[in-house]
Amino acid sequence: MDSNLEFDAARAFAGQEHNHFIGGEWQPGASAGKIDSIDPGSGTVIGQIAAGNAEDVDHAVDAARAAFPAWSATGGIQRAKLMWALADALMANASALAMLESLDNGMPARMAGFGVMGAAENLRYNAGWAGKLAGETVSMSAPDHQAFTIREPVGVVGAIVPWNFPLAMAVAKLAPILAAGCTVVLKPAELTSMSALKLAELIAEVGFPAGVINVVTGHGAEAGQALVDHPGVAKIAFTGSTATGKGLLASAAGNLKRLSLELGGKSPTVIFADANLAAAAEGAAMSVFMNSGQVCVAGSRVLIQRSVFDQVIEAIVARARAIRVGSGQAPDTEIGPLISGQHRDRVLGYVEAGRSEGAEVLAGGKVRQGEGFFMEPTVFVNARPEHRIMREEIFGPVVAAVPFDDAEEAIAMANDTEYGLSASVWSREIGTALGAARKIDAGTVRVNGGAGLDPAMPFGGFKQSGWGRENGREGVLAFTETKSISIKL
Ligand code: ADP
Repeated sequence: MDSNLEFDAARAFAGQEHNHFIGGEWQPGASAGKIDSIDPGSGTVIGQIAAGNAEDVDHAVDAARAAFPAWSATGGIQRAKLMWALADALMANASALAMLESLDNGMPARMAGFGVMGAAENLRYNAGWAGKLAGETVSMSAPDHQAFTIREPVGVVGAIVPWNFPLAMAVAKLAPILAAGCTVVLKPAELTSMSALKLAELIAEVGFPAGVINVVTGHGAEAGQALVDHPGVAKIAFTGSTATGKGLLASAAGNLKRLSLELGGKSPTVIFADANLAAAAEGAAMSVFMNSGQVCVAGSRVLIQRSVFDQVIEAIVARARAIRVGSGQAPDTEIGPLISGQHRDRVLGYVEAGRSEGAEVLAGGKVRQGEGFFMEPTVFVNARPEHRIMREEIFGPVVAAVPFDDAEEAIAMANDTEYGLSASVWSREIGTALGAARKIDAGTVRVNGGAGLDPAMPFGGFKQSGWGRENGREGVLAFTETKSISIKL
């Protein structure tokens, strides 16, 4: 399909009446409440989603609970087949999904296309685990005993996802949940629910049993909170801001439900003088400007060895100025708008704070006037460790660059944060690169442009960046309980 037709199809889908997907059926909300969906590229309303409430969540959890016994008893191969079928359905609809995502979130459609591909790969990777989860035999201290462990699915999972990579995030939650044999209620972000609703259509089409996957749309404080509070939910898998994540702790205490939290970051990019400087500058720039910096692993602090500071900063500034900011639906756009006017103002607030605290803007720093929520990629220098732009997650295209003298200082600066999600290290010397990788407190360290995310690679945060790991074997086991069975011989 050509992209104009795809755009029209995405607009038509967004404009449809949207309901919740519960027990394999589309069900209107218990209340008539609706939430406007806004295209961040134009600021116009493209449709409405249902504002789910506690009653809707209750129905969805009931459906997921009813589906759990049969689904958890379904053989791994059969569950894997359905997961592969969903992956195939995603790919068969890849460009339509990408256009819908671009319209709803603002990201370039090309990048959204990579998200769809990543989602399909994630399903296929996790499908491989569905039939391979096993416990171990245990050598007992007690005489005349034999024991072993088994892995049981934890039960109904509430998956709560953010708006920055809506489809990829939703599927990254669903894939290990399904592989572990759990059933799920997915609550997409209220700003970007369209791709999850389209996903639900595909879920119905490929034949998942009713109630295995349910989607309830709505506000975080209402539908999201109801899911977290619900006694029938065994685990909440949450990705979002650290502030919201902390708030969920108290609510989860009600039934001591399990909680995995993938939260914010203030990730450092550390560039040593012996690095491939052109690659490092490009990597540093794109790590924070990609998706307009609305990325939990964004490299929002760049630490550069003093002898090459001017050279690297010049390259980063040049890249920042050259980035093509524009509509996600235009073919040559590199980065799209921020998600909302409110978020853009928040990001701009950080730029103002940086300036007033004494840091200097070398590139960008302004929002684009006119339609949509666009902002220029922004580079700060002369930021001090105590400045807010050095400490707080901005979630926008804003980077602060600081010089360091030696590895010890670089590592101390990299670790001078309450977060610990991700870091990048650039050096041609393996001892320098690996030494830093081992000493930086972060869940993922990317060396010389290594990938930040892969379905096989555990992902999650140290410190206040979260609890638990997604992806890899750990990511699936996170949705199981270990049961020990001992036998007296
Ligand atoms: P952001 O501030 O970036 O929007 P949030 O952490 O607020 O990130 O949102 C991430 C997800 O968490 C969204 O789906 C949102 O609706 C949901 N959410 C927000 N507040 C709550 C809450 N109190 N309980 C459960 N979910 C919530």
